[in-house]
Amino acid sequence: MSVKAIGLFSGGLDSILAVKVLQEQDVDVVGVTFETPFFSSGRARKIAGSIDLPLRVIDITQSHLSMLKAPPHGYGKNMNPCIDCHALMLETAGMIMDDAGADFIFTGEVVGQRPMSQTGGSLRLVAKLSGYDGLVLRPLSALLLPPTGPESEGKVDRQRLLDIQGRGRKRQMALADEYGISFYPAPGGGCLLTDPAFSERLRDLLRACPDPSVRDIELLKLGRHLRISRDVKIAVGRNREENEAILGITHESDIILSVRNVPGPVVIIPGGAGMDEVERAAAVCAFYSDASRDAHVQVLARGNHAERVVETTPMDAEEVRSMIIERRLKNGNAGAIHSNKS
Ligand code: SF4
Repeated sequence: MSVKAIGLFSGGLDSILAVKVLQEQDVDVVGVTFETPFFSSGRARKIAGSIDLPLRVIDITQSHLSMLKAPPHGYGKNMNPCIDCHALMLETAGMIMDDAGADFIFTGEVVGQRPMSQTGGSLRLVAKLSGYDGLVLRPLSALLLPPTGPESEGKVDRQRLLDIQGRGRKRQMALADEYGISFYPAPGGGCLLTDPAFSERLRDLLRACPDPSVRDIELLKLGRHLRISRDVKIAVGRNREENEAILGITHESDIILSVRNVPGPVVIIPGGAGMDEVERAAAVCAFYSDASRDAHVQVLARGNHAERVVETTPMDAEEVRSMIIERRLKNGNAGAIHSNKS
């Protein structure tokens, strides 16, 4: 009977090589990749197709979101809870393994490649946290780790596994050549939780709303974000595409603002707000419009099946700057606010 394995597959070179190393031992391999609002399966789907790897795509949004609010092992440099995220992915892959009657799980992780999540200790920890300790094989670094079940049971020949470690890519690139793999994506990228500006928005959202919806998260990807009061945040579209995208994800409870008679952004107040905040949002909307600094501007505010016109003037640039959520980033580009007047 053939040996079967389920592999976490990101579409990156290491995950491709892990598949190849096991296929070389006639292991029947199926890939699994994940989707959440923070990362997608696009790259994995594309690469799996190009190497004929059967791939399962699993949406783990809900379990990932609930873990993300308070990850037991904390965040990395940004809002990336890599230890608990990996453990969740392994746990999910383990359940797929159980269902499919497969023999073990594997990943393309390399010891020492990432400071938080890929030290030898971290790799052992996530395997343990997943509940599938002993069944998680890392073919590229297996010789640097204790033997796993499939190795001890002879399902996989440990001698034919590898001892790659560190951040360098030379050995992986040489292996890619050996396997005739000429197309593979550059390492890294792809997870919004490692992005400082996105992380700051997310931090701000979780402080104000400990139980955000998927729509709240999707909104973090669009426009400029300004906290105009303790409880109210707005998002301002930066171009026509973003304006349309914001309008595409509105809820009934939101208030949408736009200036009358001059070009300007769409501003959304997610979940609505009181009159004071609507007026502040209207002044921000006017600031980012083409109206001149001292113009009297009419801003249309729509929401809850009603609309009204707010008479305002563009908000002062410094006041706008002080409300931009990413301004708290030390090296961020939050200072780069743009309007026709700044
Ligand atoms: S970088 Fe993102 S997807 Fe990768 S383990 Fe960390 S949190 Fe999860």
